[in-house]
Amino acid sequence: MAPTVDLPPKRALGRYSYPTSHRVIELVAMAVYVGAASVLARRVGVELWARAGLGTALAVAVAAFAGFVAADLASGLVHALCDNLGSVDTPVVGQKFIRSFREHHVDPMDMTRGDFVRVNADNFLACLPVVVPTVLWLDVARHPYVATFVLALSLVVIMTNQIHKWAHMPEVPGAVRALQRRGLILSPEHHQVHHTAPFDTHYCITSGITNEPLARIGFWPVLLRGCRWVGRALPGSPAVVGDPADLGVEAGSERS
Ligand SMILES: [Zn+2]
Ligand SMILES: [Zn+2]
Repeated sequence: MAPTVDLPPKRALGRYSYPTSHRVIELVAMAVYVGAASVLARRVGVELWARAGLGTALAVAVAAFAGFVAADLASGLVHALCDNLGSVDTPVVGQKFIRSFREHHVDPMDMTRGDFVRVNADNFLACLPVVVPTVLWLDVARHPYVATFVLALSLVVIMTNQIHKWAHMPEVPGAVRALQRRGLILSPEHHQVHHTAPFDTHYCITSGITNEPLARIGFWPVLLRGCRWVGRALPGSPAVVGDPADLGVEAGSERS
């Protein structure tokens, strides 16, 4: 009798073994981020302590809020591009980044079953090209509020997938629900707009604070037109194909 072969679980867009190499990359990225962000936070803390006062507190609040808004905007841009450009077969980013967005189109609850590393590590990795150069080259003594902005931005970015996951969970801790109700993090009700046909708006998934302004100025239709143009050079781009069925999504079903 032929020996049985353990196949990885069947996933929405074909088999994906979640190779050990991806897990190692994720753990290394998380460790490097924690180290770099800790160094940056310590430098910022020392500098702000030396400048303690009302003006400093106000400037820190403005810089932190700017980071909070910028993280929401960045989440929307990445989400929109991964939803509409390329495919799981796109080199470099296809398996590691695009796949998770596309599979979420097919099974929105899948991300609620992943552990913390699997759900969140990609965002730690995405922060490294910003946080590491900041630690290496930014003079925090001269630009403490720029460093505060970078720190706030990255702290919200690394929480983005966790916040998105909470927005899909039927039960969340009371403190999380309170933050959702106050609009400080993405609420299920707000995110549902993106899940509703024609699935082409409200891509921002940290707080969602930028979704309404972007929708009002007609930002997403312009971006999607750009995706259609660029997508002609990227095989399998949904923005070009223009048919939800090509994402493996039944017409009328939920998307991420
Ligand atoms: Zn989506
Ligand atoms: Zn979603």
